[in-house]
Amino acid sequence: MIINDSTLEEIVDSVIGGDLISSEQALALADLPSERLSALFAAASRVREHHFGNRVSLCGIINAKSGLCPEDCSFCAQSSHHATGVDCYPLLDQDTLLAGARSVAGHGAACYGIVTSGSGISEGEELAQVCATIKAIRAEGQIAPGASLGTLTLAAAEQLKAAGLVTYHHNLETARSFFPQICSTHDYDDDVATVRLAKQVGLRVCCGGLFGLGETMAQRVELVLTLRELQVDSVPINFLDPVAGTPLAAMHQLTPLDCLHTIALFRLILPDVHITVCGGRQKNLRELQSWVFLAGASGIMTGNYLTKEGRQPADDLQMIEDLGLVIAKEMLR
Ligand code: SF4
Repeated sequence: MIINDSTLEEIVDSVIGGDLISSEQALALADLPSERLSALFAAASRVREHHFGNRVSLCGIINAKSGLCPEDCSFCAQSSHHATGVDCYPLLDQDTLLAGARSVAGHGAACYGIVTSGSGISEGEELAQVCATIKAIRAEGQIAPGASLGTLTLAAAEQLKAAGLVTYHHNLETARSFFPQICSTHDYDDDVATVRLAKQVGLRVCCGGLFGLGETMAQRVELVLTLRELQVDSVPINFLDPVAGTPLAAMHQLTPLDCLHTIALFRLILPDVHITVCGGRQKNLRELQSWVFLAGASGIMTGNYLTKEGRQPADDLQMIEDLGLVIAKEMLR
């Protein structure tokens, strides 16, 4: 199908009216040439404003356990299959995790993610320690606790929910059709099952992907349609910042416009879902970072990423103020 200005307007009106766009429409939007992207960004911005007004929200994370992961994700600094020289350490103690929560809350973030490397957290001492930390964060009441601990069992999901966890984060990373090219040590369905389990126990689910791995735009559409089917609550969008020593060290697929095109596509397909731009923002968007909101994102991750330094939070706060946007104290969905 051909997308001209009037069909784009019709699509936006119908999305705002509550309709879902079809896969044919999604693929046509993914195919738009660069000279049509400013119209697409305006459309995505209209949809964001309809659902979130001028409010955006921030999140922050801590790398709570780093390195030595037995999985072989081809982009990841923390896989034991790649010689990246990343810091390796066991689960941080509760005082350090709590200090991280206070710091992230102090930068205006609504959600604090405790992130551990590995296929999944061990269900003895480690899980108990994370649950105790979640309870302590809830008791302080400054920020909503989130966790990203790998694949889950039902028992672990229930334990996290009972401890007061608000959000479980687990990325699918890429489309099912591309996943075998980036990971051979587990199945896509393992990740889908964890997303379903987290939803089943009543956790808010944050689930998205990483772009610039060599996937096509059609595969980005495939991923976002899977996320829509899974009814995730929040979608993090990451852009590859290649790590020396990984198989993708020389991969430089993305331009700033590709990144914005992807964000706008996600906004139109997931009109009322909170979309947060996370890792690789500085590296891939460069001078166009502030455009993420104009392309439809409703949040950004602030502070450091898992294994790379982020921008100063004060610079992010200034950027948001300069855009006339307001930081919501609560999560946007
Ligand atoms: S992305 Fe997660 S599961 Fe994959 S290698 Fe890195 S830490 Fe392990």
